[in-house]
Amino acid sequence: IFDEFSIKKLVRPVPDFPKPGVVFRDITPLFQSPRAMRMVADSLIQRYVETEFSHIGALDARGFIIGSILAYELNKPLVLFRKQGKLPAQVLSQGYSTEYGEAFLEVHADSLCEGDSVLLVDDLIATGGTLLAAAQLVRRMNARVHEVAAVIDLPELGGSRKLQEAGIAAYTLTA
Ligand code: 5GP
Repeated sequence: IFDEFSIKKLVRPVPDFPKPGVVFRDITPLFQSPRAMRMVADSLIQRYVETEFSHIGALDARGFIIGSILAYELNKPLVLFRKQGKLPAQVLSQGYSTEYGEAFLEVHADSLCEGDSVLLVDDLIATGGTLLAAAQLVRRMNARVHEVAAVIDLPELGGSRKLQEAGIAAYTLTA
């Protein structure tokens, strides 16, 4: 059974990372707990096993870890949304702003097409800027976002609300 409290205990607040004033939620202790990771994976698999969508879109870098478990278990193609300069072939690039500054998110331009429906997966929603950029890339390929899924939401940063306002459903395991 899913136990939100035991997941939260494995998220370590690190003050002043990556810059002064930011409290970073470090989820590496969660990755180091097989029991908690199984709980996270099983909860997400249970939610998505009987829903209709075509692709998993995993966000650089911790979204890759959760996204690849889901892609394997749900037998879906995995599309990588990466930070600038990592993908080798032709990319679409989308600018966005985060808590820390400006950045670009990229995806291979031929990875989705019209009619595809993508479950976007990341570890954490803060301002929502990263997932919104991924959603814009999905839309630029004439595909649509099925839902976004994350382990943790930081509601005080307004990201999940911003996503809802953009018409994107957000599902998180802990708030
Ligand atoms: P957002 O774009 O929603 O502001 O930030 C979310 C993105 O930045 C995610 O890709 C997430 O991995 C990363 N991120 C931002 N803040 C944190 C944090 O405190 N902890 C973790 N684990 N990731 C964060």
